[in-house]
Amino acid sequence: MFNKLLLLLVLIQVLSACATSPTGRSQLIYMPDNQLNQMGLQAFDNLKSQKPATKNTKYTQFAQCIAEALIHETGGDWEVVVFEDESLNAFALPGNKIGVHTGMIKLVDNQDQLAAVIGHEIGHVMARHSNERMSQETAVKQGVALIQAVSAPETALGQTAIGLLGIGAQYGIILPYSRTHESEADVIGLDIMAKAGFDPRQSIDLWKKMAAAGKGQEPAEFMSTHPSHSTRIEDLNKHMPNAMQYYQQAMTIGKKPRCSR
Ligand SMILES: [Zn+2]
Repeated sequence: MFNKLLLLLVLIQVLSACATSPTGRSQLIYMPDNQLNQMGLQAFDNLKSQKPATKNTKYTQFAQCIAEALIHETGGDWEVVVFEDESLNAFALPGNKIGVHTGMIKLVDNQDQLAAVIGHEIGHVMARHSNERMSQETAVKQGVALIQAVSAPETALGQTAIGLLGIGAQYGIILPYSRTHESEADVIGLDIMAKAGFDPRQSIDLWKKMAAAGKGQEPAEFMSTHPSHSTRIEDLNKHMPNAMQYYQQAMTIGKKPRCSR
């Protein structure tokens, strides 16, 4: 009897840890999403208290106009902040928070390229990559400590937690997304941007631009957390016919975002 009960408990735990990402990949997820959201909110609040939002209302409107069109496709309430920071970076956190640096806004040629960046970031959140990273890193017991550690970025555990959320470069720790996570965020982002009426082909130009910018003396922050791999462009091209169908459909029904700086 006791053994059966034990088996049942183990089974429940294993089942609850198995999840499926939006692209159909099976994931091991141990942490409750509401705790991840709490970590995201805390990390975003910390950032906002340290880094000024831009006073350039054109930049803010540009990013928000693009984000709104994308969010229309994904649903949910999202907060978008443009930070006054010349470094090339953008990120999204659990709890639906999006941050874009002014340096990134200056880099892109058009709304479609910034939509590719923000779509990719939303892809990481939709596929719960932070939760997966935390779950891989720790047992449940340590998870509680990690959640608390987010509010103490000066500690080693706090740095790990923030690094796993994908914004550790702010505090000197970089934990790059895996190739699997990068590819998945690329595919999700490509579909979202196309459905919203942004030209998905611009994502290729964007990543080429990023790679070129990353070759300078100071590697771009974005490229260190979102490492490029040789097959990224190839993979995007592979998914392009599908994305182009979404794009055509969006244009047919009149989804034509007009976001400008
Ligand atoms: Zn990424």
